Amino acid sequence: MMKLTYPMLFLVVLVFTLFSLPTPSLAKEDSNRYIALHDRLLAFEKEEVRLENAQILVPFEKMSRYLYADIQKSDKQITITKNDTSISYNFLTTETTVNQVIISDNAVQMIDDILYIPVRLLGESTDFKVDYLSDILTVRLYTDRYPHLSHPQFIQQIKKKRNETASPKPTPPAEPGKPIVYLTFDDGPNRYTSEHLKIMRNYNVKGTFFFVGNQISSFKSLTQQTYNEGHTLALHSMTHDRKSVYASAPAFIGEMKKETEMIQSLTGFKPTLVRTPYGSKPYVTSAMRSLLKKEGYKMWDWDVDTLDWKISEANFQQIITSVKKGVEEAIRAKDQHIVVLLHDRVQTTKALPGIIAWLIEQGYSIQPYKSELHVSQNFWHDNEL
Ligand SMILES: [Zn+2]
Repeated sequence: MMKLTYPMLFLVVLVFTLFSLPTPSLAKEDSNRYIALHDRLLAFEKEEVRLENAQILVPFEKMSRYLYADIQKSDKQITITKNDTSISYNFLTTETTVNQVIISDNAVQMIDDILYIPVRLLGESTDFKVDYLSDILTVRLYTDRYPHLSHPQFIQQIKKKRNETASPKPTPPAEPGKPIVYLTFDDGPNRYTSEHLKIMRNYNVKGTFFFVGNQISSFKSLTQQTYNEGHTLALHSMTHDRKSVYASAPAFIGEMKKETEMIQSLTGFKPTLVRTPYGSKPYVTSAMRSLLKKEGYKMWDWDVDTLDWKISEANFQQIITSVKKGVEEAIRAKDQHIVVLLHDRVQTTKALPGIIAWLIEQGYSIQPYKSELHVSQNFWHDNEL
């Protein structure tokens, strides 16, 4: 039998003291709690995530939408269904049932006219794993049926992001002799977008994707994947229809705002960069430009037009050639931020490895658009955009 010596006793007491100390003071500085689904933080307002009786509550309907649950609502009750589980709340009896079984404790509740549900109840009932990551004050829902980062990787990623937002870095001038090239892709999401993601993953480079809102609903997970892989999501209008987009200034800004909401509800990311269909000149009026500024948007056209959209699949080498020509010309004109226009099309998929390989070989830096490093690039030479 081991005898307790004084040093050992001291150690035991020390260990007990350490463990009984209140958790680090992070909670004092930041009383927020965050909700994550797989590898992304969900966009909830501060007051939407509530801490009540050691339970973390979230708005029932909004969180159910994030889980792609089916939602049925009547005057009498709301029912959400996901992975063979139904959760109902009866507005008259205020009862919560999970697969018809009444849950009496920690159930759905109405607070300030909004229905809340303990995030653990919602997640676990619908077959998600639910872990609280105290380092980042985040409840994380995930399933192993879907690829995701490990908890330590995820924690590290979120900490890094929070540090970046806390201290935005000033615009670094492009290294002399090392211009930045932005690869931008219009007209996705579509099947070629996922090919482009694959190619860019292989070269470890990121791009900027100007998506068409009306296509996003058919490619929700691809939209999320594009964001999760570090590319920048940007706006290319809802309809891409010349007559509709440019019908009037309110119609124009309406399409951009609607698409912003779509992307934000899917990814939590709020896009701020617009590329208008067919380019901003001559279609974008000064009234439209004012509205863009008022709503906090920026607008990009391009430096290098590859004309990839009209080159046939067999002639994809021409796209590589026009990138080379265009970039070299821009560099001769002392441009340090070169925006290359491409499209999510099959011929571009064929050309992309050649384009990236050449840019890397030349020593250019390939970057995604970042709003904090915005450089003005529009055909109206409007520096406020
Ligand atoms: Zn387009």
